[in-house]
Amino acid sequence: MTAQSNIYPTKALQELDAAHHWHPFSDMKSLNDEGSRIITSADGVWLTDSEGKKILDGMAGLWCVQVGHGRKEIADAVHKQMVELSYYNTFFKTTHPPAIALAERLAKLAPDHLNTVFFCSSGSEANDTVFRMVRTYWDKQGKPDKKVIIGRWNGYHGSTLAGTSLGGMKGMHEQGDLPVAGVHHIDQPYWFGEGHDMSPDDFGIHVARKLEQAIDEIGEDKVAAFIAEPIQGAGGVIIPPETYWPEVRRILEEREILFVADEVICGFGRLGEWFGSTYYGIKPDLMPIAKGLTSGYLPMGGVMVSDKVAEGLMLAGGDFNHGYTYSGHPACAAAALANLDIIEREGLVGRVKNDIGPYLQERWLKLGEHELVGEARMSGIVGALELVPDKKNPHKPFKDVGVPGLLCRDISFEHGMVMRAVRDSMIISPPLVLTHEEADFLIATAEKTLNDTY
Ligand code: PLP
Repeated sequence: MTAQSNIYPTKALQELDAAHHWHPFSDMKSLNDEGSRIITSADGVWLTDSEGKKILDGMAGLWCVQVGHGRKEIADAVHKQMVELSYYNTFFKTTHPPAIALAERLAKLAPDHLNTVFFCSSGSEANDTVFRMVRTYWDKQGKPDKKVIIGRWNGYHGSTLAGTSLGGMKGMHEQGDLPVAGVHHIDQPYWFGEGHDMSPDDFGIHVARKLEQAIDEIGEDKVAAFIAEPIQGAGGVIIPPETYWPEVRRILEEREILFVADEVICGFGRLGEWFGSTYYGIKPDLMPIAKGLTSGYLPMGGVMVSDKVAEGLMLAGGDFNHGYTYSGHPACAAAALANLDIIEREGLVGRVKNDIGPYLQERWLKLGEHELVGEARMSGIVGALELVPDKKNPHKPFKDVGVPGLLCRDISFEHGMVMRAVRDSMIISPPLVLTHEEADFLIATAEKTLNDTY
């Protein structure tokens, strides 16, 4: 039997899947016992599973399908490109038109000082690239001791060794001798979970200064870079207090270290600006991108490089011994260009800022009144609900009574919507094309799910 089509019953497909397919970030034992949900097609914000059930994709796949599913225009562009030039590399003084066109397009879209892009296939590879780039940069400046990269606990920068090390997910570090040498983590700006004994504004300043303390303790002459997501996505949609980024910016301006804004989730309109850096007025030296770059239609990532870093890397010869077979892959670049055409033509970034963003936010924040919710937060079109056992004592976690996040996630799916669970938080990050009617469905389903979980 082959699982190429969905003419086989769900149970048979689940058994094949369990027998041969190891899933990322999944408890394989329970998957084998319960069987995976099988998604067979998708259109707009709607998924269809192997039973024919329609499910609202409240996570845009994995925070990536900005333009919605099933855009023929992207498929056509990829097809045309594959017929013309399905593959060639960008190594050793060769290139091709789609990579050139995409690099130019990104330079125009990114903040003014970021005019060069290094291509790869994912956010993890982008951060692997960052790891080498910042160290190579300082080597070339004659400062080879500047090696330490500061990240944040609970930050997420991917699954390669470099990405896992830069990220602050302790469960991932436990898999080996991680993080690799030369990475230091500081606290995250998670007011609800870790800062509520102060006002959000005081906490924002307090936690930003952890960066200053870390640089001073390690020694500025040893610190190469600070990496952070403008809003932490996979860590639980941690939206920093308003005082956080201005204070971090002050600290960075006073010190000679590179700043890496990981825009893999925040980029391409999710916060109602093209990039989270623009939204927060922060000025990265390097900007990893992926996900929304192609809306997930094909795998592609990159690192946007500032003029300062690009020039610095050219010192003493412009060699940078790093690259991937699929850096700038022509079909992926064609998908990205068609995707950017749609985002621009349909004004999706402005739509998040002025239309669907505020519409959804107003309704999502009201879910904060639910008995099971300690805090509802949202920025642009990405949000979280913190589930709590006792609303009168909202900062006490579920730890002692069993975490309901996974239960809530499963109930939501049964009710026809994908929400993701991060610890006790429920997360949404829908496609940017979500309509008002679909937003109403999302809110009604989230409420029904909370009622049934409670
Ligand atoms: N950086 C951030 C901020 C992410 O959220 C992710 C993935 O969720 C990554 C990097 C890794 O991207 P990928 O899964 O494409 O390797």
